[in-house]
Amino acid sequence: MIPALTPNYNRANLAFERGEGAWLWTTDGRRFLDFGSGIATASLGHGNKHLADAIAEQAHKVMHVSNLYRIPQAERLAERLVANSFADSVLFCNSGAEANEGMIKMMRKTMFNEGKPERYRLITFEGAFHGRTLGALAATGNAKYLEGFGPPAEGFDQVPFNNLNAVRDAIGPGTAGIIIEPLQGEGGVRPAQIQFLKDLRAACDEFGILLGLDEVQSGMGRSGKLFAHEWAGIKPDVVAAAKGIGGGFPLGAVLANERAAKNLTPGTHGTTYGGNPLACAAGNAVLDVILAPGFLADVTRKGQLLWDGMAALAHDFPSVFEDHRGSGLLQGLKCAIPVGTVQEACTAEGLMTITAGENTLRIAPPLVVTDADLAEGLAMMRRAAQRCVPDAGKAAAQ
Ligand SMILES: *Cc1c(COP(=O)(O)O)cnc(C)c1O
Repeated sequence: MIPALTPNYNRANLAFERGEGAWLWTTDGRRFLDFGSGIATASLGHGNKHLADAIAEQAHKVMHVSNLYRIPQAERLAERLVANSFADSVLFCNSGAEANEGMIKMMRKTMFNEGKPERYRLITFEGAFHGRTLGALAATGNAKYLEGFGPPAEGFDQVPFNNLNAVRDAIGPGTAGIIIEPLQGEGGVRPAQIQFLKDLRAACDEFGILLGLDEVQSGMGRSGKLFAHEWAGIKPDVVAAAKGIGGGFPLGAVLANERAAKNLTPGTHGTTYGGNPLACAAGNAVLDVILAPGFLADVTRKGQLLWDGMAALAHDFPSVFEDHRGSGLLQGLKCAIPVGTVQEACTAEGLMTITAGENTLRIAPPLVVTDADLAEGLAMMRRAAQRCVPDAGKAAAQ
């Protein structure tokens, strides 16, 4: 018989009842170090008092009024994001897929309103992940995810990642823009080269098309900057954000410059929940922490600690790990053996990790992770790697 909860996930047999910082306790009292953050989402870790208090306080006052009315919490959150990014304006929604849908619609409508309705096609990249709604899924372009769901939404042209010639070849009279993750998360923690991002910006300017970035995973401080594209020194036209933006409370956002944002006039796009007082109270509480002086610099510093530790693992266990990559507190180890085996060994050590494409072990601790947590997590990874060495007995005896 089918379970009451639709079985569309492969869930680990672990149930958590409370957490503190980077640590979680299961209902049966076991303790785990969370280096997955609920897929790079619990940016402030678990049980964060500032975030929990902000949500509770707002919940007691007013949770939801709809976008038929002004929402001061949303206005404040938007103003703060605008003040701290390339954006001139912010549209709120509830998830990463929805943020990408909003971005896609905004990019197409911009071309339409600029008198080029034939320019609706978007260039996307192999290994991308943009979400599971039909539009985002077509942008994702992964045959495995598309199968069985009817004809994919039209208007997406996928090219190889980090390949400028392929991008320039794909730009045609029907192209509205380019959508890329500056750091592919699901695809295997694969960074776009800094020069590639600069070249994409230049190509968009040359052809008068728009650059849209999916920073659902790489954004909100994960890379050590508020948005990962800042490392390339470029200004995109539109950015999709979600995951860490609410610290675990469902919230998404489309940040855009004026050229793009002004096209979503009343009646063209909308959502019932998007940017409601409760979600925006959470978003503001997260920003209080992330934008505090020195916080992002400390994420970069901790990212370097993690980098050094993981690089040492890759060096010391070449039979387990074949590549190490990432940025800030989002890093990956491409495995030489099935990643599931490595993840299981980590879990057995008490460390929660995530897998990603290209047989990659993905590490994304909460942004508030401590140096001691990082040291402990790296020690767990090392013991896990030891268990995974093909002739483990021999390696342990050395
Ligand atoms: C997770 C993710 C999404 C989808 O977000 P949902 O909230 O699951 O809809 C889209 N893009 C990227 C880069 C992601 O990591």
